[in-house]
Amino acid sequence: MSKQAMREEAERLVREALARKTVTVKQGETRIETKCGKCGAPNRVKAAPGETRVEFACKDCGHKQKTM
Ligand SMILES: [Zn+2]
Repeated sequence: MSKQAMREEAERLVREALARKTVTVKQGETRIETKCGKCGAPNRVKAAPGETRVEFACKDCGHKQKTM
């Protein structure tokens, strides 16, 4: 199979999957539980899947930081 044919095949499969709505376009966000580095308040931060360092502002003191 040529590269061109493989690409077309892959695109076709994606289109079909989208048509059947079996492909999740937006993957579920994960939640990171972290502690504020300033005041120690627990914070829940939304993160994209696989992301571990997310910028957030503490819900208690508003201190901006990144999750570890
Ligand atoms: Zn804080």
